[in-house]
Amino acid sequence: TPGIRPLIAGNWKMNGTSDSLGELQAIAAGFADASGNEADGLICVPATLLDRAAKAMAGSPVASGGQDCHAKESGAHTGDISAAMLKDCGASHVIVGHSERRADHGESDAVVAAKAKAAWQAGLVAVICIGETREERVSGKTLSVLSTQIAGSVPAEATAANTVVAYEPVWAIGTGLIPTLPDVEEAHAHIRAELKRLIGAEADGVRILYGGSMKPDNAGELLSINNVDGGLIGGASLKAKDFLAIANAVK
Ligand code: PEP
Repeated sequence: TPGIRPLIAGNWKMNGTSDSLGELQAIAAGFADASGNEADGLICVPATLLDRAAKAMAGSPVASGGQDCHAKESGAHTGDISAAMLKDCGASHVIVGHSERRADHGESDAVVAAKAKAAWQAGLVAVICIGETREERVSGKTLSVLSTQIAGSVPAEATAANTVVAYEPVWAIGTGLIPTLPDVEEAHAHIRAELKRLIGAEADGVRILYGGSMKPDNAGELLSINNVDGGLIGGASLKAKDFLAIANAVK
């Protein structure tokens, strides 16, 4: 999208220990060259790695992020992690509403919206995920599902600076399947239009990422679609070689 600098973001999910720090260092060291300085990078690591990830990538064009946060700032929530804690460990971003959180932890749109607000409160950018299931796609409900999810999970205070939206068809995540390119274009145009209804002209600057089986061999075609302002990459973000090959496709 004209005027929007792409964001190439990785989601490590529940993967990574100290053995993986070398991959992060390689991603940080190679990103500027790979992307031709034409994109920003981000890797969202497990909270246990965040502090070390942020240190390993300090001074590079690749930021560090968390994968979830609690909606509250602190308190009696055993095992949960607040946005302020992520920030304290060096995060600049946090994913909220990933479909695996929505499915595994029953997170509703309202919970996701509360988490996005908590992220902003702590000074983090919220990467808000939306996307239809296979059944919703097959029954022709994709665009209406996206409208409902945007209305429910993107707070009206969203700005181009504090929010990234990731369109991730649930059936494309980790499956090797992707929608047709016209289907991706239609979904992203619809998301932009719905964001405009919600936040007006500010929506013109919001990055809308595509996520779901983005790989080195399909990144070029996906990243050149109108209103696709980068990618959210799961499996192919774990190896520096693959992630940098995707960053290279931005050019
Ligand atoms: C994701 O986890 O957000 C994702 C898109 O995963 P994958 O790239 O492995 O499909």
